[in-house]
Amino acid sequence: MGQRADERAPGRPHARLLRAIARHAAVVSGAPLVAVLLERPDGPPRFACAACDGPGLDRPRQSELGKLVEADPAIQGLEPAGRKRHLVARCDPALGRALGAGARPGLRAALLPVGAAAPAAWIAFMGPGSPGRAALRVYRAVARQAAHEIQARARRGELARDVTRERRALAELQEAKETLAALGLAGAHLMVETDQRAVYGVICRELIRLGFHTAVLEAERGHGPPRAPFRYAFTSFGPQLQSATERLLGRSLAAIRLDPASAPLLRRVLETGRMVRTDRPLEVGRELFGNAPEDPVRKFVRLLQLRHVLLAPLRYAQGISGVLVVTASRLRRSDPEAIDVFALQASIALEKARLFAQLRQQQAVLESEVDRRTRELTLAVRALQELDRRKDNFLANVSHELRTPLVTVLGYADLVLSEKIGELNERQRDCLRTAVGSARRLRSFIDELLEFSRHELTKEGLAFEPLDVPDLLQQAARSLAPQLHQAGVSLRRRVAPGTPRAWGDRDRLLQVLTNLIGNAEKYAGQGGRIRLAAAGTRPGRVDISVSDDGPGIAPEHLERIFDRLYQVGDARRPRDQGQGLGLGLAIARAIVEAHGGTISARSRLGSGTSFRFSIPTAPALEAGAAVPAAAAASTPS
Ligand code: ADP
Repeated sequence: MGQRADERAPGRPHARLLRAIARHAAVVSGAPLVAVLLERPDGPPRFACAACDGPGLDRPRQSELGKLVEADPAIQGLEPAGRKRHLVARCDPALGRALGAGARPGLRAALLPVGAAAPAAWIAFMGPGSPGRAALRVYRAVARQAAHEIQARARRGELARDVTRERRALAELQEAKETLAALGLAGAHLMVETDQRAVYGVICRELIRLGFHTAVLEAERGHGPPRAPFRYAFTSFGPQLQSATERLLGRSLAAIRLDPASAPLLRRVLETGRMVRTDRPLEVGRELFGNAPEDPVRKFVRLLQLRHVLLAPLRYAQGISGVLVVTASRLRRSDPEAIDVFALQASIALEKARLFAQLRQQQAVLESEVDRRTRELTLAVRALQELDRRKDNFLANVSHELRTPLVTVLGYADLVLSEKIGELNERQRDCLRTAVGSARRLRSFIDELLEFSRHELTKEGLAFEPLDVPDLLQQAARSLAPQLHQAGVSLRRRVAPGTPRAWGDRDRLLQVLTNLIGNAEKYAGQGGRIRLAAAGTRPGRVDISVSDDGPGIAPEHLERIFDRLYQVGDARRPRDQGQGLGLGLAIARAIVEAHGGTISARSRLGSGTSFRFSIPTAPALEAGAAVPAAAAASTPS
């Protein structure tokens, strides 16, 4: 029984120990032959002679006699001891003969069990005749001592084995931890990549860092889901190794197409959807290099010292899109599982990259569509602007052409009406007055059109100056006083104390005020009241408002009344009633905005309307004079 056999059968006493026990027993007992018998783990005879000794016996004799002991029928019929304390059996004469003349007549074996632990063991003291009491006492003491030693040694051995096992387990655990940590980090690297090639790169780079050579096999992609055959999408080989491999194989890796029908390992991965491990690198090498001849593959395997190959599926939602081939010269116990997990992470990263690619493609399509539509819209806007400009030009030209003869018509009509060139009868006078009234209205339309065109076409510059607000309001009120008086409309002005001077173009602001007051007068009607107010409550701004107690404007129109040509209700009706063209508020807004201000309207049907606009205050140096006290007044009408 050698040391290796002993290691392979944990729990069996060491051969050297058994020999020592036999020697010690022979010396102490004085028996011509002592044998230690040990239960065999397999088949008959049940007990084997594990050690054998006696005075003056050398090794060859010991082994010769040991064999005879083993063959002795008394020994062959031996059972585990049970409760027996000892047995005495007659030995085979052959053993007696072999032992020597002295022991030949009636050689007996006194058999005593050695301890009760498994495997069962006996110690046999062979001598002539049955042993006496004293001899049995000695034998028992020897057997007890032997049991004791075997037990103690077993405990020590177990302890040593436990320690070794624990050390090995710890080392493995440490390696597994390191592999897992490295693969965890690799997984994190994978997750940041959104491009398929980059993901392949990270897979191979990270695995080679852990000592594995890697290749990614990718199923071909058409329009549908990925399908066989598979091709090499990426390898961890550097350029030199790659070209050396290709020279060996006599073909380029890129040209290899792997059909699972003729590649059993690949087929197994696809069919089971699980990782496959093989420790036959030559076979798998031939398969994965497209049925390559044995010789170059053998050289390749030897060159890279490959011993183990793992094929892990790269999955996606509907199946398997590729296979990760990992080869190594040494595999730790935890490696396959770690690589399986890594392959799963790689699958997720690849799926993410695929979705990103799809997204990028859709984005590109969308962007080009947006570009196309933007170009179309820009062209349409330009065309509309051009149309608008031409219309404004036309408006300006026509208005101008109409105004000149109209002025002449009005001049002559006024002259005739003044009767300086001849008397008119009552009827003629009435007719002429009506004609003059209409011509004047026409002129005011034309003036309005001209005014508007001037703004739109020329975007003329404003002549800014500091403006005294009470003065501005008074001037506006004065210019409209006769008209208000005639319409029976009252106007009150109020400028809040401390209102700073405004900064603007006097004529243009007067025009805004005239438009707003004119509208208020028009819509408030006979007996109506207009309030003109100004205040400088907001820093850097002067707010001016024109309010009336007219019929008001419905909310749905409020937003639009500042649009060009917008009129509330039926456009023809107000015009027939002598009202404007729907340009007054558009002009007012253009002027206010050119001052950097805003204009808005608030109204409630039946309760009147209030227009408010803001303009900047005069710069500090110019702002010298603010309104000293409340400046309130009524129209001098
Ligand atoms: P118009 O020259 O026709 O008055 P505006 O641009 O000045 O054109 O005004 C646009 C429309 O706003 C008018 O048609 C009118 O319906 C409405 N509007 C303007 N001011 C008032 C107001 N003070 N009260 C009621 N409605 C008004």
